[in-house]
Amino acid sequence: MIESTEPTIRSRELKIVYEIPVKRLISFLEGLKQGKLVTTKCKRCGTVHFPPVADCSNCLNSEMEWIELSNEATIETFTYVTTKPLTFQRDPPYIIAIGRLKEGIRILARLTGMRPEEVKIGMKAKLVIKMISDDRFTYELYPFKDTKDDHREGF
Ligand SMILES: [Zn+2]
Repeated sequence: MIESTEPTIRSRELKIVYEIPVKRLISFLEGLKQGKLVTTKCKRCGTVHFPPVADCSNCLNSEMEWIELSNEATIETFTYVTTKPLTFQRDPPYIIAIGRLKEGIRILARLTGMRPEEVKIGMKAKLVIKMISDDRFTYELYPFKDTKDDHREGF
């Protein structure tokens, strides 16, 4: 908040809601609902963009193809969050990590199911899409367990 030396009164809290046109990005939202992470690849220069874009920032081309990203990530870095933003005040401390997908895309997400002292840079993680509602979603990273005894789906 900006401190002022002039006399002020405080406004009521404002809530802004935008209607975001998604016609050219609808495949992304449809993919998420199916648990798939899809994004755009420029047909001219081959640049893979994430999040998906309607126009290529590299060559300004508007012809994109949709590609499905892998859900296998390599943990590049992480932090353990104990001082949380207001939105997550009720959550216990959590780990935020950057996972790099095979395609080179980096995704910032919570790393769930581990204690911070167990996390190793370079370890494999599985990216899971979680729908919160019809139009809200989040990603989470889970430790990738490469053991034959573990038959849980996706591991
Ligand atoms: Zn391009």
